[in-house]
Amino acid sequence: MTVAEDLRTRVDSIRRRVAQAAARAGRSTDEISLVAISKTYPTEFLRNAIDAGVTDLGENRVQEAEPKVLEVGRMAVRWHLVGHLQENKARRAINLFDLIHSLDSVSLAQRLNRLCVSEGREQLPVLVQINLGGEETKTGIAPDGLSTLLDAFATCPRLRLDGLMTLPPYFQDPEGGRPYFKRLRELRDRLKTEGRFDDRSGALSMGMSNDFEVAIEEGATIIRVGTAIFGQRG
Ligand SMILES: *Cc1c(COP(=O)(O)O)cnc(C)c1O
Repeated sequence: MTVAEDLRTRVDSIRRRVAQAAARAGRSTDEISLVAISKTYPTEFLRNAIDAGVTDLGENRVQEAEPKVLEVGRMAVRWHLVGHLQENKARRAINLFDLIHSLDSVSLAQRLNRLCVSEGREQLPVLVQINLGGEETKTGIAPDGLSTLLDAFATCPRLRLDGLMTLPPYFQDPEGGRPYFKRLRELRDRLKTEGRFDDRSGALSMGMSNDFEVAIEEGATIIRVGTAIFGQRG
């Protein structure tokens, strides 16, 4: 099999597994989007993924993403930033990405909002990354800092809060992530009752190659799948 055929087979297989997990949970596949995480893979792989029907690509570093976005095309797919965003990369991030999964501080929110004004970006969709793993996961905002961050959206009209993201500690056993996925969903549901999300928002970005089916069972609306699509990272 060529690399391209191999990739198509893997994407098809992921889609089948997504459909099966959704069916088990009584959910529609329409509410689940697949983001292919292409960090460390060469641009050719990204093109193959697009040929295989992938519509969303995710990268975790602005520096690595920039040349890839330019080569593949800013409008060729929806581009997602899934890694931590340093404030000094915020301007570039605004011009490269459709959705930022890793908003984790008030100062980053304010900076992104200011830069949207100066860069002429009307609206920047973002997810707030929540650290549910305490010591074990270093990125994201702790749940007790969340309401302060959400309050800051009132002064950041260019940011559109689409939902929440989490990256649990790694477990060999896919079931290991389930309590974290469940907690993120419960947090989202609570924010919904508080009126922080409307009917359109409240996305849950959770689940990776090892555990996306469990995440779907717990309500994931965006799954981030790298190695199961592209193969082991070198
Ligand atoms: C790398 C990465 C993924 C994908 O991980 P795989 O195990 O390769 O599927 C998902 N989310 C984030 C934030 C990542 O950095």
